This record gives sequence, structure tokens and C-alpha cells, in this order.
Amino acid sequence: MEEDFSTEDVLVDKNSMPEDDPNGNTLHDALDIRWGPQHAGAKLLASQYTKEKRIQEIVCIILFIILMIYNFFFILRYFDVRNWYLIIPAALLGILTADLASGIVHWGADTWGSVDIPLIGRNFLRPFREHHIDPTSITRHDFIETNGDNFAVTVPYLFYMAYKFTFFNDSDIRRLYNFEVYMFLLAIFVSMTNQFHKWSHTYFGLPSFIDFLQRYHIILPRKHHRIHHVLPHDTYFCITTGWLNWPLEVINFWSRLETIIEKYSGAKPRSDDFVWAQKTEKVHYE
Ligand SMILES: [Zn+2]
Ligand SMILES: [Zn+2]
Repeated sequence: MEEDFSTEDVLVDKNSMPEDDPNGNTLHDALDIRWGPQHAGAKLLASQYTKEKRIQEIVCIILFIILMIYNFFFILRYFDVRNWYLIIPAALLGILTADLASGIVHWGADTWGSVDIPLIGRNFLRPFREHHIDPTSITRHDFIETNGDNFAVTVPYLFYMAYKFTFFNDSDIRRLYNFEVYMFLLAIFVSMTNQFHKWSHTYFGLPSFIDFLQRYHIILPRKHHRIHHVLPHDTYFCITTGWLNWPLEVINFWSRLETIIEKYSGAKPRSDDFVWAQKTEKVHYE
């Protein structure tokens, strides 16, 4: 595929880790700042992935699959093609909501808090820090480590949906149908977010249909997501489809939000992310 390279592309390339060199910076001049698995911070963060966490991820993924199949059966059973003009917007709105949610969660985790915070630091913020200093580590994570957290988020609602489909009467289900389609698509796209994100970092061997979905911007494209991976990681946070990145950028959504939060809390955005990035130079120059 032919690609154009603008000045912006060159800047993105210069200030982020090359994606075609995922496992060791072999293409890079050794005197450049190193990113990747050799990075001291990345090593420490990767070592904090525990066995308990993995069990929790496996349980959530199994529950997710069972609930998805169960609920999908009811979505099909109550499907009425005459309501297409309501069902399609509901589904699209579900996808947009997932993209916005991915942006807000990603922005929150990248921008505030630290890995030292009990419980959420190690379990929830750690992967975000690791991802900035070793962006392609995600491509070395298996399906469970990549998707466990996102699947977990959707499980409580999928339980509730299954409860409604099982115990509510016919007319109540029909009344709720469009909303449940919205929630179903939201759940699918929330659960797939990190997989889409992983594919956006995978520069080799993607199945052609994934390549197609990326090229037509149905899911997060590779080049589009590279814009986020430029220090100081302060924009393009949406990682499901990325559809909302440009509109949010136009209205300076993230920086306005940060200004407000900084003003009222005194917290500095990205201070922890910055500390982890700094560990680079230590390893590099010793
Ligand atoms: Zn990020
Ligand atoms: Zn990324």
C-alpha cells in the first residue's frame, strides 16, 4: 500500500517508537532514546502482572462469552425488521458511546493517578504506563491479558440484560428492545476495544479483513493511533474506532478538561506518566 508522508508524519515518527521494530529497537541508533522491552520502567511494570489477576481475567472472559451468546439469542428472537430506522441508530450510538468511553477511561488513566495507588495503581494504571514506554508490548500479550479488563467491565450489565430477557414479559422486552440493542453494541465495542487497539499496533501478519476494517476506519487505524503515541501523550485518546478523536481535538476537549481539573484539584496532568518515561534515559546512558 502506497502512503504519503507529510511533515507531521515525520514528526510522529521521530518522537515515538517505530512500530516496525517491535522487539528490541534494532533499527534505532543506539544513542537515541530507547523505548521497548529493554526499558527499565517497562521491565518493572511487566513483572507486576500477577497470577491472581490472570485468574480473574479468565473467569470474566468465560462469563462474557456465555452471557453474550445468551443475550444475542434474545436480541435475534425479538428482532423486528420494521423497526430498522430505530435499531440502526441505536446500534451506531452504542459504538459511538464505546469510543467516547474508551477515550475518557484512557485519558483518565494516562493523565491522573500513579502506579503506587493501592489496588488500582498496580491493577489498572500499570498497563497504561507500560503501554507508553513499550507500546508494542501489547502485541506480545495473549488474548487473555489483552482483553480481560474490558470484558470484565461489561459483565455486570450483561448479567442484568440476561435477567431482563429471562424474567420480563413480552411487552416489557419489546418496549426495552432498542435500548438493549444500544447496550449490546456498547458492550461488544467496549469489550473489543483493547483488541482493536492491539491490532492498531500490529504491523505484520494481520488478517486481510482486519486490514480492511482499519483502512476504511471502521475500527482504529494504525496511522491514526500513532498520533496518540507522541510525547506527552495528550491527545487522540479514543481507541475503539477513533471516530471521535478529531471532533474532540477541534473543541480542545481534553485540554479544557485538564485545565478545569488542575484548577480545582491542583494535580498536574501526566506527572506519573512523565516519571515512568524518565526511567528511559537512565537505562539508556548507563
Ligand atoms: Zn495512552
Ligand atoms: Zn496504543
